[in-house]
Amino acid sequence: MKIYKNHDLSRYNTFGLGVKSAYFLEVEQEDDLPRAIETADELTQGNFMFLGGGSNVLFCGDYKGAVIHLAFGGLEFHETGRNQILVEAGAGVSWHDLVTYTTQNGWWGLENLAMIPGSVGAAPIQNIGAYGVEQGDCFESLSGIPLNGPPCTYSKKICDFGYRNSIFKQELKNNFVITRVRYLLETQPNPRLDYQDLKLRFAEAFGKGTGHQPSSNEIANAVADIRRSKLPDPALIGNAGSFFKNPILTKEQAESLKNLHPNMPLFAPKTENDTGSESKTSAAWLIEQCGWKGHRRGAVGVSETHALVLVHYGDGKGEDLWQLAQDIRSSVRMEFGIDLEPEVNPVL
Ligand SMILES: Cc1cc2nc3c(=O)[nH]c(=O)nc-3n(C[C@H](O)[C@H](O)[C@H](O)COP(=O)(O)OP(=O)(O)OC[C@H]3O[C@@H](n4cnc5c(N)ncnc54)[C@H](O)[C@@H]3O)c2cc1C
Repeated sequence: MKIYKNHDLSRYNTFGLGVKSAYFLEVEQEDDLPRAIETADELTQGNFMFLGGGSNVLFCGDYKGAVIHLAFGGLEFHETGRNQILVEAGAGVSWHDLVTYTTQNGWWGLENLAMIPGSVGAAPIQNIGAYGVEQGDCFESLSGIPLNGPPCTYSKKICDFGYRNSIFKQELKNNFVITRVRYLLETQPNPRLDYQDLKLRFAEAFGKGTGHQPSSNEIANAVADIRRSKLPDPALIGNAGSFFKNPILTKEQAESLKNLHPNMPLFAPKTENDTGSESKTSAAWLIEQCGWKGHRRGAVGVSETHALVLVHYGDGKGEDLWQLAQDIRSSVRMEFGIDLEPEVNPVL
């Protein structure tokens, strides 16, 4: 374990904000994690946080506590004998590397989640999702350490996955560190191409009746291509992907808003216990209607191509991004009566 003081975090947050943390503990071996937690606790009287790839955090200023950076890897798999493979990865493995490893082996389950930045350890926290799939769909279990107890393993049921949500964003927020995650993948083809962009992309091959079934690796590559064409690359312009969640509305709320705004998009939320009583709308659409798309305020702004993505042009401040987010929330609340919930985790 390495310990740094007054550490520059600009390489550790995809907004690229030039903030510092009072302490930075780099944990490259899983066995060192309990000692890292103890040390961070002693150094800061309990003011510490865990960090993976920094692609879902907004540092609103210098962090006065200790950052524990989870940098340990480990990737292994076991055949279960039922056309399924159990893959296990350490918290510090890059998510995209995990997806690539599984699809290059021809396994099915994670292909639609290609190119999501960040680490494996953070994936269950907001139950990452894209192109009609969430990591919870093929999640098997995870191991971790509660801050007030011994290491333990949690099943899918305990994790309570929802839309960009889990027990780790609720009851166990800041109170549990994920060390390993397991996914149960399939060896038999199971393409999920319902999402419009993917459907269009593969329609030609299917439409011509060539009988060509895309492999999981081809789907992952197609997802990566589509993502590259749609989302600003954090290596070029600082951002953390979608800043807000898409709001879930009751059926009544959705109907009355649709009467007022006939163009408002509505779609069914993807939840396991969907009762049909809720609808999801597009946060990007709401923000765009309020005139924020492409808005620039000094060194920060809203992407010109994607209204849901807040961007940092360089040499800006996290607090300015947070203020911009608050102003966007206020105007959406005034215009539509909807309170947007941030998907990004602010570190205030
Ligand atoms: C360009 C771009 C596109 C994106 N697209 C998507 C998308 O399509 N779908 C999607 O769901 N998300 C997306 N995201 C958001 C982000 O990639 C995911 O939320 C990702 O899982 C964050 O991983 P991370 O390692 O960077 O987490 P970090 O930003 O390091 O941490 C996020 C939160 O989790 C906590 N944390 C991190 N690791 C652990 C751990 N091991 N144990 C306990 N707590 C931990 C941190 O304290 C923090 O609160 C995108 C982000 C970017 C920049």
